[in-house]
Amino acid sequence: MPLALAVAAMPTAALITDAEERVVHVNPAFERLTGYGLDDLVGRNCRVLQVPETDPATVRAMRTALSRGESFFGEVLNRRRDGGVFWNALLINPVLDEDGGVVGFLSAQADVTARVEEQRVVADRLRTAETLLDGLRRFTSADPEEAAQALCDATVQAGAPGAVLVQERQGEPRVVATAGRVAVPLDGLAELALADAADHQDPSVQTVARHRGLPGAGRTIVLPVVPRTTAPAALVALWSDGAGSEQDLALTAERMERLGQLGGLALDNLELFERIRAAADVDDLTGAASRTAVQARLERALAVGPASVLYLDVDRFKRMNDSLGHGGGDALLAQVTARVRDAVAGDGAVGRLGGDEFLVVLPGAGDAEAAAVQARIDVGMREPFEVDGRTVFARASAGRASGLMLQGETAEGAASRLVQAADAAMYAVKRARPHREVETPLDLVDLEVDLRRAIDDRRLDTWFQPQYDGASGRIAGFEALARWRHPSRGWIPPRVFIPVAEESGLIGELGSRVLRDAARFAERAAARLGSVAISVNVARTELLDPGYPARVAALLAARRHDWSLTLEITELDLEEGDDRIRAALLALRGMGVAIAIDDFGSGASSLRMLQDLPVTAVKMDESFLHRGGALREGMIAAIVALGLGLGLEVMAEGIETASQLETLRRLRCTRLQGFLLGAPGPAELAVDAAPSFDAVGLGGARPARD
Ligand code: C2E
Ligand code: MG
Ligand code: MG
Repeated sequence: MPLALAVAAMPTAALITDAEERVVHVNPAFERLTGYGLDDLVGRNCRVLQVPETDPATVRAMRTALSRGESFFGEVLNRRRDGGVFWNALLINPVLDEDGGVVGFLSAQADVTARVEEQRVVADRLRTAETLLDGLRRFTSADPEEAAQALCDATVQAGAPGAVLVQERQGEPRVVATAGRVAVPLDGLAELALADAADHQDPSVQTVARHRGLPGAGRTIVLPVVPRTTAPAALVALWSDGAGSEQDLALTAERMERLGQLGGLALDNLELFERIRAAADVDDLTGAASRTAVQARLERALAVGPASVLYLDVDRFKRMNDSLGHGGGDALLAQVTARVRDAVAGDGAVGRLGGDEFLVVLPGAGDAEAAAVQARIDVGMREPFEVDGRTVFARASAGRASGLMLQGETAEGAASRLVQAADAAMYAVKRARPHREVETPLDLVDLEVDLRRAIDDRRLDTWFQPQYDGASGRIAGFEALARWRHPSRGWIPPRVFIPVAEESGLIGELGSRVLRDAARFAERAAARLGSVAISVNVARTELLDPGYPARVAALLAARRHDWSLTLEITELDLEEGDDRIRAALLALRGMGVAIAIDDFGSGASSLRMLQDLPVTAVKMDESFLHRGGALREGMIAAIVALGLGLGLEVMAEGIETASQLETLRRLRCTRLQGFLLGAPGPAELAVDAAPSFDAVGLGGARPARD
């Protein structure tokens, strides 16, 4: 047939069958490939070439294609005439007659054994490499048990049904980890495996020992694992049931060879971790070193040279702990530890002495270095902490001491001397700290718990104090002021409970509450008095909450009457510059919210703030009215002139006397507030504030109460 002639000339092995797959023709190339000539095959089904190991899915795909008269391409395992097996890449095309009926098949074939084998080897290597890599990752993990386990797991992945790692520990052969099926008694195994491994200890040669005499075990491979610093070990692959072909053993053994080297490393690590752990004696709660560990570190440092220590105490931790709950307090301590650690570089050690007290040991460091670390800790602590979704501010007071072991002194003695000195320095700092720590007879711990309850039970109230326009004397707006009447202690001033709320994270809820009350009041006041500006005090912590501007925007969007919002931020809160505060203020300005610096002039950086922040008003600190000695008048005049000169609104509060009012009006102060003009009162009363102070003859709207 002409087709056969054409095929005969092809360099590619080719075979032609009839529609029933009986061989009609094979070409010389086919005979070279398979050893079968036409005489051997003619009239026979070409399946004779197939071997049982051929992938059944491939065979199925081929059968389906041919039965439908479609082409097929695939790689199948075939047998040559001499019995040798090869991978055959088959391309089979149906041969059609004029009507499109299948009259036969023409197939081209090629021996691709080399490539297929190579691919299998590559895939195999990849798998092994992945196993090893995965193991390696775990070897470097902090958990020694996990590293030992990884070795056993890798052995099982390498082909053994079960694996055991044994090592001498404290003079005893021990099973350190197991994986897979280990259905043999392990007691005798450890000893035997170690002895067996000991005979093959040179890891540079092929050291796989096959041992078939372990008690109850079937076939085993014992791989010596030779760490550099620890006792030798043995990794045992187990076929507990005695099955497992020679091939299985050989393949697994080969893979285990590579594991052996990593195994040594892993066991060294394991030992190292255990030593570090024992030495560090980590505080479980915070991950810091324990008291004994950090003291030991200090003694070691002092034994060889100078050292510095920082004694840290988290300010008002007890209160925060009570308010956050113990889980929250723990979480806060862990975060504080992390920040302190970040600030302590090099071989410095951070230990927890107990409670909220920490000791930082800086071996070899002098006072300057210690001061630098302390400054870094301060900066690190400035960021708010997130505890259970609440924003919390924590500060730490620190005292430091540096020194050397003195003559005649022990390292222990020198260490405790330094720690005591640092402790004393810390206390001095705490006592001197001017920070808004309020001296009060109230038990602040209970106060915080009570405050939380008051917020939950909606027992906080918002009062409003009128503000008047300096030029016209007409009502300009109100300041919203939080009020808390404690069920047993009576009125608690905001100067006491606001700092408590800030430090405990309650300020967010409190502030939202005041803001909502203020908006509701604003609607009523504007309906009655016309356009009003409502001042709301906002704490730094609230501004750091990224959701704050959106909450304000929502309130403003719901406005029905003509009122505007002024946010008062006390100068103290703005002293620590922060881009997030600035961004929040800019966002608020963008909504038309006025920004006033409250208690203006009380801090040290008032002028810089006016430059840096999008401020629309300054609210003079009331102390200028009440204190200030000889310079008082001049100071007031200067502040008002400064504000006006910058085009800002100048607000004055704490006006109690007619002469104060007179002075401020003469200086053209734009907004006036004080008991003289109207004391803070609940919304129902405040809404009736005098529409103009001229109308009431400067007498003030109501008797002062606060
Ligand atoms: P502030 O913002 O400077 O509020 C003015 C304080 O002066 C208020 O004290 C007010 O009652 C008082 N005051 C009003 N008129 C006079 C007067 O003629 N003479 C004197 N001596 N005092 C007068 P209050 O209500 O005790 O508030 C103290 C501080 O607590 C406020 O100072 C403000 O910083 C803070 N605060 C009050 N409510 C809130 C609030 O809702 N959120 C925040 N974050 N802080 C608030
Ligand atoms: Mg204020
Ligand atoms: Mg003020």
